Amino acid sequence: MEQSPSTAVLTAAGVADAHESAVLVAGERLDADSQPVVNPARLHEVVGRVALGTAAHVDRAVTAAAAAFPAWSRMSPHERADRLSAAADAVSAAAGPLAELLTREQGKVLWESRVDVGGAAHILRYYTGLADRLAEDEVFRSDARGTVWSGRRPMGVTGVIVPWNSPVYLAFLGISPALLAGNTLVVKPSELAPLTLSAVLTVLAENLPEGVVNVVPGGGEAGAAIAEHHGIRKVFFTGSTATGQQVMRAAAGNLKNLSLELGGNDPAIVLESATVDDGLVDELVQSVFTASGQICFNVKRIYVHRSHHADFVERYTAAVDRLVVGDGLDPRSSMGPVNNRPQFERIQGLLERTRAAGATVTTLGSKLDPDGWDDGYFLLPSVVTDVAPGAELVTCEQFGPVVPVLPFDSDDEVVGLANDSEFGLAASVWSRDREHALGVARRLESGSVFLNVHRIGASDVSMPFGGFKGSGIGRGHGINALEACTELQTIADHVDVSGFPGPAR
Ligand code: NDP
Repeated sequence: MEQSPSTAVLTAAGVADAHESAVLVAGERLDADSQPVVNPARLHEVVGRVALGTAAHVDRAVTAAAAAFPAWSRMSPHERADRLSAAADAVSAAAGPLAELLTREQGKVLWESRVDVGGAAHILRYYTGLADRLAEDEVFRSDARGTVWSGRRPMGVTGVIVPWNSPVYLAFLGISPALLAGNTLVVKPSELAPLTLSAVLTVLAENLPEGVVNVVPGGGEAGAAIAEHHGIRKVFFTGSTATGQQVMRAAAGNLKNLSLELGGNDPAIVLESATVDDGLVDELVQSVFTASGQICFNVKRIYVHRSHHADFVERYTAAVDRLVVGDGLDPRSSMGPVNNRPQFERIQGLLERTRAAGATVTTLGSKLDPDGWDDGYFLLPSVVTDVAPGAELVTCEQFGPVVPVLPFDSDDEVVGLANDSEFGLAASVWSRDREHALGVARRLESGSVFLNVHRIGASDVSMPFGGFKGSGIGRGHGINALEACTELQTIADHVDVSGFPGPAR
């Protein structure tokens, strides 16, 4: 295959083959069947190959991770933080050119890929700053009866299963706290966007003791094997609610600890007390259409108070119409293709059914390269009005560049509509009256609620993040994620047991 300029840079930076996502166990690449990874903006272009990891590969990876666990877990948290900090420097040095590779395998525009890839070193460094939180056991109680401590201990071999939409960033939200806490890893990238993450993980693995980081790419078989394996104690899973349910069932076999970051159907609520101006409209364009709608906490439905609805729809459609859809490597593109064929066909089907049900589907935006349009999974952005609150498009997680806009008449009504969902990942309330917005926010069944914003950056790595209801179990980010990959141990030194229940002496 012809090498792109970025490949040369990567090779110089020490990444053996940035275009291969291999099974990597204790620093060794294992033989595996593989399949091509195709550029969703140019379907004739094979970007690289992904190994199809099997249950046997997962088993070898778990053995390697278990062998590395004693030494890694016995290091002090500060020693591990120092190792992770040095690894973050190496990851950061290799990461720059990888943004282009991510755009070629995932489809998103370059600035979005830079944020995704940059997340690796950023999140690692953030967690190294939390080493103090693990360093000392806490004195829980100390008095004449004795002393009781509580302390955080690593869990053991940890699986990290990652989706294709933000592969690097999401992987490191699990990887970083798990490593700092003293766990060793088996990471499974998605077969649909594995190359960049694998390149970053190769650098990470090379900069940590052998076997601390192992990688088994591939489809459902590798993921299911991780969820089932009895040598794994913890799984960080990020993906759809349906697969999360399968992971939960499989994990029951040895009662694995689970963190589940699942799907969302985020509502944005524009209250009567909002001002519908260009700022609000532009924010909501980004909230919906960044990454072609393929972020777990993109806005998936917009509710606008009836007093603003007509004005909002007019301004919003005008703003969405300025989006330019094309290859994410072209700086003129504001939106790339969707990532894969099932996703592409699912959204088209959803739009057809929405139209057939009588809703108004307004297709907007422009094609950067009309001649190359059919060689990619390109979809123009759509805004849907005259749609029933219970319609499929409103209640499902569409995960694509289409959004319904619905009117409402009262706060009670919109809180009911927003909460009438199996999901509860994030939501936003838009208003110039903070107290009004807070009052509504506190009534929403949603893990995060943002005021007057709802896009990448709104939930930084230090803020608890996760879902109510079908959107997940547990909270990621910050100290919450660190605690989620440790067991809490109590140590009790009772010097006076005279008050304990027992037979009279
Ligand atoms: P999937 O659930 O299809 O896949 C997620 C990962 O699980 C992939 O690596 C997949 O492998 C793997 N997998 C597939 N089958 C199994 C199985 N039986 N057991 C274990 N693992 C398995 O999700 P998508 O990749 O389609 O990602 C999109 C979804 O992720 C959306 O619902 C989105 O909302 C959600 N998401 C949630 C986030 C959050 O923080 N709450 C953040 C980002 C996304 P492979 O792809 O190779 O088959």
